[in-house]
Amino acid sequence: MGLKESKKFKIAFIAGTRPEIIKTAPVYFAVTHQPDLQPVFINTGQHREMSHMFLDLFNIIPDYDLNLMKPGQSLCSLTAAILQELEVILQKEKPDWVLVQGDTTSAFCGALSAFYQKITIGHIEAGLRTRDIYSPFPEEMNRILVGRLSAYHYAPTQKAKNNLLSEGISPDKIIITGNSVVDALHWIQAQDKKLSSSDINRLLSSNPNPRIVLITAHRRENWEGGIANVAKAVNHLAKRFPDIIFIFSVHPNPIVKEQVYAILSSQTNVLLHNPLDYFDFIKVLSKSLVAISDSGGVQEEAPSLGVPVIITRSITERPEILETGMGYLAGTDPETIINLAIEILRQEKTRKAQSIFGDGFASQRIVQSILFSLGKMQKRPDEFLY
Ligand code: UDP
Repeated sequence: MGLKESKKFKIAFIAGTRPEIIKTAPVYFAVTHQPDLQPVFINTGQHREMSHMFLDLFNIIPDYDLNLMKPGQSLCSLTAAILQELEVILQKEKPDWVLVQGDTTSAFCGALSAFYQKITIGHIEAGLRTRDIYSPFPEEMNRILVGRLSAYHYAPTQKAKNNLLSEGISPDKIIITGNSVVDALHWIQAQDKKLSSSDINRLLSSNPNPRIVLITAHRRENWEGGIANVAKAVNHLAKRFPDIIFIFSVHPNPIVKEQVYAILSSQTNVLLHNPLDYFDFIKVLSKSLVAISDSGGVQEEAPSLGVPVIITRSITERPEILETGMGYLAGTDPETIINLAIEILRQEKTRKAQSIFGDGFASQRIVQSILFSLGKMQKRPDEFLY
Protein backbone atom coordinates (compact mmCIF):
# COMPACT_ATOMS: atom_id res chain seq x y z
CA MET A 1 0.00 0.00 0.00
CA GLY A 2 1.45 3.41 -0.97
CA LEU A 3 1.76 6.27 1.49
CA LYS A 4 -1.29 8.01 0.05
CA GLU A 5 -3.54 5.02 0.69
CA SER A 6 -2.15 4.25 4.14
CA LYS A 7 -4.42 5.38 6.97
CA LYS A 8 -2.89 8.35 8.65
CA PHE A 9 -3.62 9.04 12.26
CA LYS A 10 -5.40 12.38 12.40
CA ILE A 11 -4.53 14.81 15.19
CA ALA A 12 -6.58 17.97 15.61
CA PHE A 13 -4.87 20.91 17.29
CA ILE A 14 -7.28 23.36 18.90
CA ALA A 15 -5.80 26.73 19.86
CA GLY A 16 -6.72 30.37 19.60
CA THR A 17 -4.73 32.65 21.89
CA ARG A 18 -1.22 34.07 21.61
CA PRO A 19 0.45 31.76 24.16
CA GLU A 20 -1.30 28.67 22.82
CA ILE A 21 -0.18 29.33 19.27
CA ILE A 22 3.42 29.97 20.35
CA LYS A 23 3.53 26.76 22.40
CA THR A 24 1.50 24.62 19.98
CA ALA A 25 3.44 25.60 16.84
CA PRO A 26 6.54 23.45 17.57
CA VAL A 27 4.36 20.40 18.30
CA TYR A 28 2.31 21.01 15.15
CA PHE A 29 5.50 21.08 13.07
CA ALA A 30 6.86 17.97 14.74
CA VAL A 31 3.60 16.21 13.81
CA THR A 32 3.77 17.40 10.18
CA HIS A 33 7.16 15.66 9.88
CA GLN A 34 5.74 12.27 10.86
CA PRO A 35 4.49 10.27 7.87
CA ASP A 36 1.99 8.35 10.03
CA LEU A 37 0.40 11.48 11.50
CA GLN A 38 -1.87 14.03 9.87
CA PRO A 39 -2.42 17.37 11.63
CA VAL A 40 -5.52 19.52 11.40
CA PHE A 41 -5.26 23.00 12.88
CA ILE A 42 -8.38 24.65 14.29
CA ASN A 43 -7.98 28.29 15.30
CA THR A 44 -10.76 29.34 17.66
CA GLY A 45 -9.73 32.97 17.17
CA GLN A 46 -10.07 33.67 20.90
CA HIS A 47 -7.41 36.34 20.39
CA ARG A 48 -8.69 37.46 17.00
CA GLU A 49 -5.95 39.70 15.56
CA MET A 50 -3.15 38.32 17.71
CA SER A 51 -3.88 34.73 16.67
CA HIS A 52 -3.34 35.66 13.00
CA MET A 53 -0.20 37.62 13.76
CA PHE A 54 1.29 34.54 15.44
CA LEU A 55 -0.04 31.96 12.97
CA ASP A 56 1.54 34.00 10.14
CA LEU A 57 4.84 34.21 11.97
CA PHE A 58 4.98 30.44 12.35
CA ASN A 59 3.64 29.93 8.78
CA ILE A 60 0.67 27.94 10.02
CA ILE A 61 -2.35 28.03 7.73
CA PRO A 62 -5.24 26.90 9.90
CA ASP A 63 -7.62 24.38 8.38
CA TYR A 64 -10.43 26.07 10.29
CA ASP A 65 -10.59 29.64 11.47
CA LEU A 66 -13.53 30.43 13.73
CA ASN A 67 -14.71 34.00 13.80
CA LEU A 68 -16.71 34.16 16.97
CA MET A 69 -15.22 36.87 19.16
CA LYS A 70 -17.44 39.82 19.96
CA PRO A 71 -16.39 42.96 21.84
CA GLY A 72 -16.89 42.59 25.60
CA GLN A 73 -17.89 38.94 25.24
CA SER A 74 -18.55 37.09 28.50
CA LEU A 75 -16.86 33.79 29.32
CA CYS A 76 -20.23 32.00 29.09
CA SER A 77 -21.01 33.28 25.64
CA LEU A 78 -17.45 32.60 24.42
CA THR A 79 -17.61 29.05 25.81
CA ALA A 80 -21.00 28.39 24.22
CA ALA A 81 -19.89 29.77 20.84
CA ILE A 82 -16.65 27.76 20.72
CA LEU A 83 -18.39 24.53 21.76
CA GLN A 84 -21.08 24.90 19.10
CA GLU A 85 -18.59 25.53 16.32
CA LEU A 86 -16.19 22.79 17.39
CA GLU A 87 -18.95 20.18 17.47
CA VAL A 88 -19.59 20.61 13.74
CA ILE A 89 -15.87 20.58 12.85
CA LEU A 90 -15.00 17.55 14.95
CA GLN A 91 -18.00 15.62 13.56
CA LYS A 92 -16.81 16.42 10.04
CA GLU A 93 -13.09 15.81 10.55
CA LYS A 94 -13.36 12.83 12.92
CA PRO A 95 -9.82 13.20 14.29
CA ASP A 96 -8.36 10.25 16.19
CA TRP A 97 -6.86 12.56 18.79
CA VAL A 98 -7.26 16.16 19.89
CA LEU A 99 -4.32 18.07 21.36
CA VAL A 100 -4.93 21.15 23.47
CA GLN A 101 -2.38 23.33 25.21
CA GLY A 102 -2.45 25.05 28.57
CA ASP A 103 -5.38 26.62 30.29
CA THR A 104 -7.42 28.93 28.10
CA THR A 105 -11.13 28.82 27.38
CA SER A 106 -10.19 27.49 23.93
CA ALA A 107 -8.22 24.63 25.50
CA PHE A 108 -11.06 23.78 27.88
CA CYS A 109 -13.70 23.92 25.12
CA GLY A 110 -11.45 21.93 22.79
CA ALA A 111 -11.09 19.18 25.38
CA LEU A 112 -14.78 19.18 26.30
CA SER A 113 -15.97 18.97 22.70
CA ALA A 114 -13.48 16.16 22.00
CA PHE A 115 -14.77 14.34 25.09
CA TYR A 116 -18.37 14.67 23.87
CA GLN A 117 -17.28 12.95 20.63
CA LYS A 118 -15.29 10.31 22.58
CA ILE A 119 -12.03 11.46 21.00
CA THR A 120 -8.76 10.83 22.88
CA ILE A 121 -7.28 14.02 24.33
CA GLY A 122 -3.64 14.91 24.92
CA HIS A 123 -2.78 17.90 27.11
CA ILE A 124 0.34 19.93 26.38
CA GLU A 125 1.65 21.80 29.47
CA ALA A 126 -0.28 19.56 31.84
CA GLY A 127 -0.18 19.68 35.63
CA LEU A 128 0.40 23.36 36.39
CA ARG A 129 -1.48 24.30 39.55
CA THR A 130 -1.77 27.20 41.97
CA ARG A 131 -4.45 25.38 44.04
CA ASP A 132 -6.52 28.59 44.03
CA ILE A 133 -9.38 28.27 41.56
CA TYR A 134 -9.71 32.06 41.31
CA SER A 135 -6.06 32.74 40.56
CA PRO A 136 -5.43 32.74 37.71
CA PHE A 137 -9.09 33.01 36.74
CA PRO A 138 -10.48 31.16 34.86
CA GLU A 139 -7.22 29.43 33.87
CA GLU A 140 -6.66 27.39 37.05
CA MET A 141 -10.07 25.72 36.70
CA ASN A 142 -9.59 25.33 32.94
CA ARG A 143 -6.37 23.38 33.47
CA ILE A 144 -7.93 21.20 36.18
CA LEU A 145 -10.86 20.38 33.90
CA VAL A 146 -8.63 19.72 30.88
CA GLY A 147 -6.60 17.41 33.12
CA ARG A 148 -9.72 15.44 34.04
CA LEU A 149 -10.75 15.13 30.40
CA SER A 150 -7.34 14.14 29.01
CA ALA A 151 -5.98 10.66 28.47
CA TYR A 152 -2.34 11.77 28.05
CA HIS A 153 -0.54 14.46 30.00
CA TYR A 154 2.59 16.21 28.71
CA ALA A 155 3.94 17.80 31.87
CA PRO A 156 6.67 20.43 31.51
CA THR A 157 8.42 19.75 34.84
CA GLN A 158 8.74 17.21 37.65
CA LYS A 159 6.58 19.43 39.89
CA ALA A 160 3.80 19.50 37.28
CA LYS A 161 3.99 15.70 37.08
CA ASN A 162 3.80 15.46 40.89
CA ASN A 163 0.64 17.59 40.84
CA LEU A 164 -0.98 15.17 38.42
CA LEU A 165 0.13 12.14 40.42
CA SER A 166 -1.38 13.70 43.54
CA GLU A 167 -4.68 13.92 41.67
CA GLY A 168 -4.64 10.18 41.01
CA ILE A 169 -3.50 10.22 37.39
CA SER A 170 -1.65 7.06 36.46
CA PRO A 171 2.13 7.59 36.02
CA ASP A 172 2.14 5.78 32.68
CA LYS A 173 -0.15 8.48 31.27
CA ILE A 174 2.20 11.32 32.24
CA ILE A 175 5.53 12.23 30.69
CA ILE A 176 7.81 15.13 31.57
CA THR A 177 8.57 16.78 28.25
CA GLY A 178 9.76 20.27 29.19
CA ASN A 179 7.71 23.20 27.97
CA SER A 180 7.35 23.61 24.21
CA VAL A 181 7.72 27.38 24.70
CA VAL A 182 11.48 26.76 24.91
CA ASP A 183 11.31 25.00 21.51
CA ALA A 184 9.52 28.07 20.15
CA LEU A 185 12.05 30.38 21.77
CA HIS A 186 15.00 28.54 20.18
CA TRP A 187 13.24 28.58 16.82
CA ILE A 188 12.55 32.29 16.89
CA GLN A 189 16.10 33.11 18.01
CA ALA A 190 17.46 31.18 15.04
CA GLN A 191 15.43 33.27 12.54
CA ASP A 192 17.35 35.67 10.38
CA LYS A 193 14.70 38.35 10.36
CA LYS A 194 14.34 42.10 10.65
CA LEU A 195 12.53 43.67 13.58
CA SER A 196 8.91 44.39 12.65
CA SER A 197 8.48 47.38 14.94
CA SER A 198 10.07 50.59 13.70
CA ASP A 199 10.13 51.94 17.29
CA ILE A 200 12.04 48.92 18.59
CA ASN A 201 14.32 48.95 15.57
CA ARG A 202 15.16 52.62 16.12
CA LEU A 203 15.77 52.03 19.80
CA LEU A 204 18.02 49.00 19.40
CA SER A 205 19.98 50.36 16.42
CA SER A 206 20.67 53.72 18.08
CA ASN A 207 22.25 52.04 21.11
CA PRO A 208 23.91 48.60 21.10
CA ASN A 209 23.54 48.31 24.90
CA PRO A 210 20.26 49.93 25.78
CA ARG A 211 19.04 49.79 29.37
CA ILE A 212 15.57 48.31 29.10
CA VAL A 213 12.83 47.15 31.42
CA LEU A 214 10.06 45.18 29.70
CA ILE A 215 6.52 45.14 31.07
CA THR A 216 3.42 43.12 30.23
CA ALA A 217 0.10 42.97 32.10
CA HIS A 218 -3.12 41.25 31.17
CA ARG A 219 -4.46 38.86 33.83
CA ARG A 220 -8.20 39.11 34.44
CA GLU A 221 -7.73 39.08 38.23
CA ASN A 222 -5.57 42.23 37.82
CA TRP A 223 -8.17 44.17 35.82
CA GLU A 224 -9.64 45.87 38.89
CA GLY A 225 -6.75 47.80 40.34
CA GLY A 226 -3.79 45.49 39.72
CA ILE A 227 -2.95 46.77 36.26
CA ALA A 228 -3.30 50.41 37.33
CA ASN A 229 -0.96 49.63 40.25
CA VAL A 230 1.63 48.12 37.91
CA ALA A 231 1.38 51.22 35.71
CA LYS A 232 1.83 53.47 38.77
CA ALA A 233 4.94 51.52 39.78
CA VAL A 234 6.34 51.84 36.25
CA ASN A 235 5.62 55.57 36.30
CA HIS A 236 7.57 55.94 39.53
CA LEU A 237 10.49 53.84 38.25
CA ALA A 238 10.60 55.75 34.95
CA LYS A 239 10.99 59.05 36.84
CA ARG A 240 13.66 57.57 39.10
CA PHE A 241 15.68 55.94 36.28
CA PRO A 242 15.59 58.44 33.38
CA ASP A 243 18.37 56.55 31.54
CA ILE A 244 16.24 53.39 31.32
CA ILE A 245 13.62 52.82 28.61
CA PHE A 246 10.54 51.12 29.95
CA ILE A 247 8.89 49.18 27.12
CA PHE A 248 5.31 48.28 27.96
CA SER A 249 3.71 45.77 25.59
CA VAL A 250 0.10 46.82 26.07
CA HIS A 251 -2.49 44.07 25.73
CA PRO A 252 -5.23 45.04 23.23
CA ASN A 253 -8.02 44.38 25.71
CA PRO A 254 -9.65 47.84 26.17
CA ILE A 255 -9.89 47.35 29.96
CA VAL A 256 -6.10 46.95 30.11
CA LYS A 257 -5.27 49.55 27.48
CA GLU A 258 -7.30 52.38 29.03
CA GLN A 259 -5.73 51.97 32.47
CA VAL A 260 -2.17 51.81 31.15
CA TYR A 261 -2.49 54.78 28.79
CA ALA A 262 -4.21 56.93 31.43
CA ILE A 263 -1.23 56.60 33.77
CA LEU A 264 1.78 56.30 31.47
CA SER A 265 1.18 58.08 28.18
CA SER A 266 2.99 61.31 29.11
CA GLN A 267 6.17 59.71 30.50
CA THR A 268 8.92 60.21 27.88
CA ASN A 269 11.10 57.20 28.74
CA VAL A 270 8.09 54.86 28.66
CA LEU A 271 7.31 53.31 25.29
CA LEU A 272 3.72 52.09 25.19
CA HIS A 273 3.59 49.61 22.35
CA ASN A 274 0.94 47.40 20.75
CA PRO A 275 1.65 43.68 21.21
CA LEU A 276 5.03 42.95 19.68
CA ASP A 277 5.49 40.06 17.33
CA TYR A 278 7.30 37.12 18.89
CA PHE A 279 10.65 37.88 17.25
CA ASP A 280 10.64 41.50 18.47
CA PHE A 281 9.36 40.57 21.91
CA ILE A 282 12.09 37.97 22.48
CA LYS A 283 14.74 40.36 21.17
CA VAL A 284 13.62 43.00 23.69
CA LEU A 285 13.24 40.49 26.53
CA SER A 286 16.75 39.14 25.92
CA LYS A 287 18.15 42.67 26.27
CA SER A 288 16.12 43.58 29.35
CA LEU A 289 17.59 44.17 32.79
CA VAL A 290 14.38 42.85 34.30
CA ALA A 291 10.84 42.02 33.17
CA ILE A 292 7.76 43.04 35.15
CA SER A 293 4.98 40.69 34.14
CA ASP A 294 1.93 38.66 35.09
CA SER A 295 2.39 36.42 32.05
CA GLY A 296 2.92 32.68 32.30
CA GLY A 297 4.97 32.48 29.11
CA VAL A 298 7.29 35.31 30.16
CA GLN A 299 8.03 33.47 33.44
CA GLU A 300 9.19 30.53 31.32
CA GLU A 301 11.12 32.41 28.65
CA ALA A 302 12.97 34.91 30.85
CA PRO A 303 15.01 32.30 32.80
CA SER A 304 16.06 30.73 29.48
CA LEU A 305 17.48 34.16 28.59
CA GLY A 306 19.00 34.89 32.01
CA VAL A 307 16.54 37.72 32.67
CA PRO A 308 14.92 38.06 36.12
CA VAL A 309 11.16 38.58 36.41
CA ILE A 310 9.12 40.55 38.91
CA ILE A 311 5.90 38.56 38.88
CA THR A 312 2.90 40.84 39.44
CA ARG A 313 0.73 38.11 40.88
CA SER A 314 0.10 36.79 44.37
CA ILE A 315 0.80 33.19 43.40
CA THR A 316 2.47 31.30 40.58
CA GLU A 317 1.92 27.85 39.09
CA ARG A 318 5.57 27.94 38.03
CA PRO A 319 7.31 27.67 41.44
CA GLU A 320 10.56 26.55 39.77
CA ILE A 321 11.26 30.19 38.84
CA LEU A 322 11.14 31.26 42.50
CA GLU A 323 13.35 28.41 43.66
CA THR A 324 16.08 29.21 41.15
CA GLY A 325 16.05 32.89 42.10
CA MET A 326 15.02 34.02 38.61
CA GLY A 327 11.59 35.23 39.70
CA TYR A 328 10.21 37.37 42.52
CA LEU A 329 6.58 37.18 43.53
CA ALA A 330 5.51 40.78 44.04
CA GLY A 331 1.72 40.92 43.82
CA THR A 332 0.51 44.26 42.55
CA ASP A 333 1.38 46.56 45.44
CA PRO A 334 3.29 49.43 43.74
CA GLU A 335 5.75 49.80 46.61
CA THR A 336 6.74 46.13 46.53
CA ILE A 337 7.22 46.25 42.74
CA ILE A 338 9.26 49.46 43.01
CA ASN A 339 11.50 48.15 45.79
CA LEU A 340 12.18 44.88 44.02
CA ALA A 341 12.93 46.68 40.76
CA ILE A 342 15.30 49.13 42.46
CA GLU A 343 17.16 46.26 44.08
CA ILE A 344 17.53 44.33 40.82
CA LEU A 345 18.47 47.45 38.83
CA ARG A 346 21.07 48.48 41.41
CA GLN A 347 22.70 45.05 41.45
CA GLU A 348 22.56 44.71 37.68
CA LYS A 349 24.24 41.34 37.97
CA THR A 350 24.75 39.05 35.02
CA ARG A 351 22.62 35.96 35.44
CA LYS A 352 23.18 32.62 33.88
CA ALA A 353 20.49 31.45 31.46
CA GLN A 354 18.70 28.51 33.04
CA SER A 355 16.76 25.75 31.30
CA ILE A 356 14.34 25.32 34.19
CA PHE A 357 11.34 24.85 31.94
CA GLY A 358 12.74 22.95 29.00
CA ASP A 359 15.65 22.14 26.74
CA GLY A 360 14.02 22.78 23.37
CA PHE A 361 13.04 19.15 22.73
CA ALA A 362 9.56 19.11 24.28
CA SER A 363 7.75 18.81 20.95
CA GLN A 364 9.99 15.92 19.91
CA ARG A 365 9.21 14.11 23.19
CA ILE A 366 5.48 14.77 22.78
CA VAL A 367 5.40 13.36 19.27
CA GLN A 368 7.51 10.34 20.21
CA SER A 369 5.23 9.79 23.15
CA ILE A 370 2.18 9.90 20.84
CA LEU A 371 3.85 7.35 18.54
CA PHE A 372 4.64 5.19 21.56
CA SER A 373 1.00 5.37 22.72
CA LEU A 374 -0.07 4.29 19.22
CA GLY A 375 2.32 1.32 19.30
CA LYS A 376 4.45 2.83 16.52
CA MET A 377 7.52 3.22 18.75
CA GLN A 378 9.02 0.56 20.98
CA LYS A 379 10.38 2.80 23.69
CA ARG A 380 8.92 5.66 25.65
CA PRO A 381 11.06 8.80 25.14
CA ASP A 382 13.33 9.80 28.01
CA GLU A 383 11.86 12.48 30.23
CA PHE A 384 13.16 16.04 30.46
CA LEU A 385 15.16 16.41 33.63
CA TYR A 386 16.32 19.72 34.98
N1 UDP B 1 4.42 37.85 23.81
C1 UDP B 1 4.70 38.37 22.56
N2 UDP B 1 4.52 39.70 22.35
C2 UDP B 1 4.12 40.55 23.31
C3 UDP B 1 3.84 40.03 24.61
C4 UDP B 1 4.00 38.67 24.82
O1 UDP B 1 5.09 37.63 21.65
O2 UDP B 1 4.01 41.75 23.05
C5 UDP B 1 4.55 36.41 24.04
C6 UDP B 1 5.48 36.02 25.15
O3 UDP B 1 6.80 35.86 24.66
C7 UDP B 1 4.89 34.72 25.66
C8 UDP B 1 3.42 34.86 25.35
O4 UDP B 1 3.29 35.93 24.44
O5 UDP B 1 5.38 33.61 24.94
C9 UDP B 1 2.66 35.13 26.61
O6 UDP B 1 1.35 35.45 26.34
P1 UDP B 1 0.37 35.99 27.45
O7 UDP B 1 1.15 36.75 28.45
O8 UDP B 1 -0.73 36.68 26.73
O9 UDP B 1 -0.27 34.68 28.07
P2 UDP B 1 0.15 33.73 29.27
O10 UDP B 1 1.51 33.22 28.98
O11 UDP B 1 0.07 34.52 30.53
O12 UDP B 1 -0.87 32.65 29.25
